[in-house]
Amino acid sequence: LAAAGEEAQIPRWVRINVIKTTVEEQLDTTFKGYDQVTTIEQVLAPSTGGKQRRILIDPHIPNLVAITQGTDLSKTEAYASGKIIFQDKASCFPAYLLDPMPEDGDVVDGCAAPGNKTTHLAAICHARRPNFETPDSQKIFAFEKDKRRSQTLTKMVKIAGSHGSTRVGFGQDFCQVDPMGQQFANVGALLLDPSCSGSGIVGRDTMPELHIPEASPAAGATKNMDKGKGKTSENKEGNTKKRKLDSKEEAQNSVMIDDEGNETVVNSEKDLEARLQALAGFQLKILLHALAFPAAKKVTYSTCSIHSQENEHVVMKVLESDVAQRRGWRIMKRSEQVRGMRDWPVRGLQESCGGNAEVAEGCIRSYKGDGHGVMGFFVAGFVRDGSTDEAMD
Ligand code: SAM
Repeated sequence: LAAAGEEAQIPRWVRINVIKTTVEEQLDTTFKGYDQVTTIEQVLAPSTGGKQRRILIDPHIPNLVAITQGTDLSKTEAYASGKIIFQDKASCFPAYLLDPMPEDGDVVDGCAAPGNKTTHLAAICHARRPNFETPDSQKIFAFEKDKRRSQTLTKMVKIAGSHGSTRVGFGQDFCQVDPMGQQFANVGALLLDPSCSGSGIVGRDTMPELHIPEASPAAGATKNMDKGKGKTSENKEGNTKKRKLDSKEEAQNSVMIDDEGNETVVNSEKDLEARLQALAGFQLKILLHALAFPAAKKVTYSTCSIHSQENEHVVMKVLESDVAQRRGWRIMKRSEQVRGMRDWPVRGLQESCGGNAEVAEGCIRSYKGDGHGVMGFFVAGFVRDGSTDEAMD
């Protein structure tokens, strides 16, 4: 019931893929006859015999619209041809916050499948640079460790029309990629959206569904149930599964299956804390790896978790790290963020940032069920000023 209630507070978010179409064209075709409204409450309001189909042009994220639930857009030509992409609003925050400009050079997406954020990055670059899709122009390197998920990524990149500019690192562990490699010399912006507990995903309890990376010293049992069976959900926005254990264990344990098909038994608060710590260790490691790219000037870090352990605590550890101190990485302040992110009202938790108000304000949060119509999410940006540079390495 809780999950059904949550879902009623979420519209269908649709990102208009500007590589293939425009908002105007979609309003005239796919969304012809929709009643244009100005608030999320109007989109979510139950229909009372009047117009059933309503559309809101999102005030924060460019080229994003919210649609009344219950309309099946998956059968439209626009969906089949990659002109529209289903993507929760909060999931659009990282690419928009990263804001890759032509002068930022090449872009990396370190944890890319199924490809929502990769294709969003491509759309942003495309909008800025008409020749973006030609060889030798600004490139996007999209790494994905899991081979099966890499296939989905490759497919999505193609459907979205981003394949000209995007190199898929198929089955490639981003932590094993050498930042000093010649092909990455011009990488100025990186997006890191690593595996997380998924506790912000709509339709789940706050008890997280965990993916413990193989290398992490995780407590408890975690295994991939679906590997090779092609059953895993490919989109964290809406396709999640959860089941209870049968038998006596049911009273104490929950089995959670995340969007990567990993099944985890959670026994207690202590067990949960140990798992969050294991995830945070992996998240910190992969983020520090991103900060080591020589030409990098901007990095975003995001999770669909509501837990501070995976969010503000990771940010604080990054800011205290050797690589951040040596290379001059700092938080991207709220005042430095793109307008829609600056205007977004829900910020990081100051008490989880050691009382540092500037860092907390720089962090962006969202919570499911808080009236904004989005999933639970976290994103922070890191920037590096030109003065502190490779000379110090
Ligand atoms: N950014 C994606 C999107 O918006 O569509 C969702 C990313 S999902 C939260 C995390 C992904 O990172 C998973 O597909 C997982 O297999 C991948 N991953 C985990 N560890 C990785 C690593 N070391 N290198 C590359 N990919 C990794």
